[in-house]
Amino acid sequence: MTSKWSNWAGNVTARPSRIVSPHDEAELAEVVAGAASHGATVKVVGSGHSFTPAAATDGVLVRIGALSGIRSIETDTMRVRVGAGTTLADLNLALHEHGLAMPNLGDIAYQTVAGAISTATHGTGTALGGLATCVRGVRLVDGSGEVVSIDCSTRPELLRSAAVSLGALGALTEVTLQVVPAFRLRAREEPMRLDAVLESVHDLAAANDHFEFFWVPHTGWALTKRNNRTDDPLDPLPRVRNWVDKTLIENHAFGMLCRLGRVRPSLIPRLATALPSSGRREYVDSSWKIFASERLVKFYEMEYAIPAEAVGPAVAEIRAMVEREGHLLSFPVEVRFTAADDLALSTATGRETAYVAVHIFKGMAHEPYFRDVEAIMIGHAGRPHWGKIHHRTSEDLAGLYPRWNEFLRARDELDPQRTFSNDYTRRVLGP
Ligand SMILES: Cc1cc2nc3c(=O)[nH]c(=O)nc-3n(C[C@H](O)[C@H](O)[C@H](O)COP(=O)(O)OP(=O)(O)OC[C@H]3O[C@@H](n4cnc5c(N)ncnc54)[C@H](O)[C@@H]3O)c2cc1C
Repeated sequence: MTSKWSNWAGNVTARPSRIVSPHDEAELAEVVAGAASHGATVKVVGSGHSFTPAAATDGVLVRIGALSGIRSIETDTMRVRVGAGTTLADLNLALHEHGLAMPNLGDIAYQTVAGAISTATHGTGTALGGLATCVRGVRLVDGSGEVVSIDCSTRPELLRSAAVSLGALGALTEVTLQVVPAFRLRAREEPMRLDAVLESVHDLAAANDHFEFFWVPHTGWALTKRNNRTDDPLDPLPRVRNWVDKTLIENHAFGMLCRLGRVRPSLIPRLATALPSSGRREYVDSSWKIFASERLVKFYEMEYAIPAEAVGPAVAEIRAMVEREGHLLSFPVEVRFTAADDLALSTATGRETAYVAVHIFKGMAHEPYFRDVEAIMIGHAGRPHWGKIHHRTSEDLAGLYPRWNEFLRARDELDPQRTFSNDYTRRVLGP
């Protein structure tokens, strides 16, 4: 009897033939070489925070918690070598102790560095790329069990593929990141009418280092967040207010509303009016404390990357579709922005990007709503987040990525035998 594995949201389960936790890179290389010699497959799992079966396998599942921690910090170049299994939370703390920080982050820090970059995890900020744009080098165990070092000066084109790889090129053991001096952010959070946000959305995105908004379905309101760099002294939310706002309201009270809505869906539109409230708050804190929050309420998520200029029409289409189809939604629609980059499988490759994310409370049917949103996103040449629910296949996706074939060549070079394949890679990348 093998052990069962499931992801954070609980929507993906797998029965790996074996679960192994190598102590170091050499042991990991032996595991991969052994599996490859028997024609078996291997998948490394990070923190299991993908909603897609990206890390699921019926082959050998590798946990690389032992390959974590800071390996070295070059303070003059601000390059940091970290074990691939280091969580972003641990990375943030270690960087902070050295007066450094990641230039941008998503809204949680539970992920591993390898898992986050492998699915093109991103935050928000029109001048900043996703986390994988900070990658300057990786070490990985390739499909035959050989350790390969790839860096931006010797093999820049291969690194463009290895930085966002869906785990399909090998098992990452170490990642070199370009980081920045530690900085503080002034956070300003306030509700605005959705129409007003959409009218000035590009100005808002351009005028703030990090701008995002959450439209609350069944209302005309959006919660906006502007985070801007500041030299002002720390002025965090007082501890009690922080607990009330971030833990009690954003997690426990919100979770209660979601549970109520799951039992009595017809109440959802009325419950939704409790969300925007009047609350405006402003505070100053270390960047990493502002970017990432606690997430106790479980949900399912789909997120699409579309050309930034399409964001207004796309959100308006979602609003009209929700009304027309009568979807009852207790979670907001989240909109973020990033700069274009040149990584082969980055969802922002070659274009300035807006990200539109939709969520459904765990235990409620997500399929009808997600399918309707997906149809709108496809109409805007949307690229699905690799770690969030979608229904696209390699045939749909190949034409959306200018460097698609470059990635396939990298895959043929590093894993010709497809040791690192699973059902998901076969679906989205091909055999
Ligand atoms: C509550 C929540 C909030 C989120 N917020 C954001 C957000 O703000 N922005 C955003 O873009 N995404 C967000 N995500 C998605 C999340 O960042 C990605 O799904 C990310 O991949 C999860 O990292 P992980 O460590 O859990 O990786 P996993 O989900 O475990 O794995 C992801 C992929 O990486 C591969 N992988 C992991 N480790 C290695 C390795 N060492 N070598 C090779 N391949 C490896 C796996 O095989 C798999 O293909 C969120 C998810 C959740 C659940």
